[in-house]
Amino acid sequence: MKDFFEYDCLIVGAGASGLFAASLLSTTGLKCAVVEANNKLGAKLLQTGNGKCNFTNLNLNEENYQNEDRDKAFAIIKEFDNKEVINYFKELGVLTKVRDGYVYPRSETALSVVNALRLDIESKKVKQFLNCSFKSFKKEGDYFLVNCLENMEDTSKKQEASFPITIKAKKLIIATGTNASIDNKRKSNQEEFLKDMSIKYKKFLPALVALKADNKFIKLAKGVRALGKVTILVDGKEIASDTGEIQYADYGISGIPIFQVSRYATAALNDKRKVYASLDITPDFTKEELFENVSLIVKNGQTKFLRELFDGFINHKLMEFILKNINVDLDIKASNLTSKDIDKICKALKNTSFEIIDSKGENFAQVLQGGVLFSELTNDLESKKYPGLYFCGEIVDVDGMCGGYNLQWAFSSAHKLSKKIIGEYSGTGSN
Ligand SMILES: Cc1cc2nc3c(=O)[nH]c(=O)nc-3n(C[C@H](O)[C@H](O)[C@H](O)COP(=O)(O)OP(=O)(O)OC[C@H]3O[C@@H](n4cnc5c(N)ncnc54)[C@H](O)[C@@H]3O)c2cc1C
Repeated sequence: MKDFFEYDCLIVGAGASGLFAASLLSTTGLKCAVVEANNKLGAKLLQTGNGKCNFTNLNLNEENYQNEDRDKAFAIIKEFDNKEVINYFKELGVLTKVRDGYVYPRSETALSVVNALRLDIESKKVKQFLNCSFKSFKKEGDYFLVNCLENMEDTSKKQEASFPITIKAKKLIIATGTNASIDNKRKSNQEEFLKDMSIKYKKFLPALVALKADNKFIKLAKGVRALGKVTILVDGKEIASDTGEIQYADYGISGIPIFQVSRYATAALNDKRKVYASLDITPDFTKEELFENVSLIVKNGQTKFLRELFDGFINHKLMEFILKNINVDLDIKASNLTSKDIDKICKALKNTSFEIIDSKGENFAQVLQGGVLFSELTNDLESKKYPGLYFCGEIVDVDGMCGGYNLQWAFSSAHKLSKKIIGEYSGTGSN
């Protein structure tokens, strides 16, 4: 096939990190192009933060990242941190709004972030290949010959067809993200091309995802959102915990605290280990305070049935779930409860545990853990095996907690490799 296209930098994936890299690289006059499998730019960015795009966080620490090599990831983040990201977007016309440290565009719409990046790269003449999927590359001298399939309508047959194209580039940046929240029809081929390239990666597994419980009573609490502390136990050992608004569903548990601990559960399940979740429904009470309050409720409600006794204290659906778990009869009166029963109820409020059998899966995860290992990359995120090939964003083995940390990584990692490439072109190198 004839080579029609030639660029200084070709960026595969026009999501958060790819668009950011394109914006940075094209600023210096480098001839850039993006290849995007979708028919539009930044499709996943539009879904972020419930459509509001929580793109960084004022509280940025190494602990916000959960992958093994988080020190390496955080060294890159520190070089282009939350303040730099906020400033960059400000220059693109996106002002910010902060809620509990979470940073959003002031417009509270993710579209404004995507549009700012889109308009920026359009103004700098970055070529966009949409509906175009990266398949493979080969090296020819200093160039990468990048093979893609372009989907377009075959007018002769009046249906969609794929046409191979080859794009020539001096630098190749893989910013394809992962298959988190991508429906089966649109799944990407990250694992396939990483294997083809012999680039070592850690298995992709759901992170920031809801968990499925082996508990027949949990559906009683379906629809409840309530404060709680979740602790994940693997083979009986506490691995992670978080407190916040837990959401109950017929299959199990969801909500931000569950998302925050989920990556540990999915990793352990993948290793065929026993995973339990323990819930503390009253994390705002000490054991003593709880016993005192429950005793008082029982004393003052002697004529009430257990089913309704705690209505003013804990959501009745949630209480029913807790009480059924400990096999307490809901149709007895409070006057029949002994102090041993009160103790049993308090223990259940502090610790109701059940087995976690699965997560809701990749299609419902916000992020996938796993990806290209740091050992494959230089400090500038350049492949050791193929100089000139770079990786950024979620395809690298970095996963952050909820709160804007994944987009922060996408932008910082794009910045890191862009700085190296720009340094090479301007002859200054990178430090
Ligand atoms: C529902 C949801 C909400 C989220 N909310 C937040 C949030 O509020 N804050 C936060 O920090 N993070 C959030 N995240 C995570 C965040 O969106 C990702 O971590 C981030 O977008 C990753 O950036 P990326 O550039 O690596 O990948 P992406 O943004 O996913 O971009 C990758 C792009 O590559 C394209 N692509 C894939 N394969 C190919 C191929 N073979 N050829 C060509 N193109 C390809 C894809 O179509 C895609 O456009 C959320 C994720 C989801 C799913």
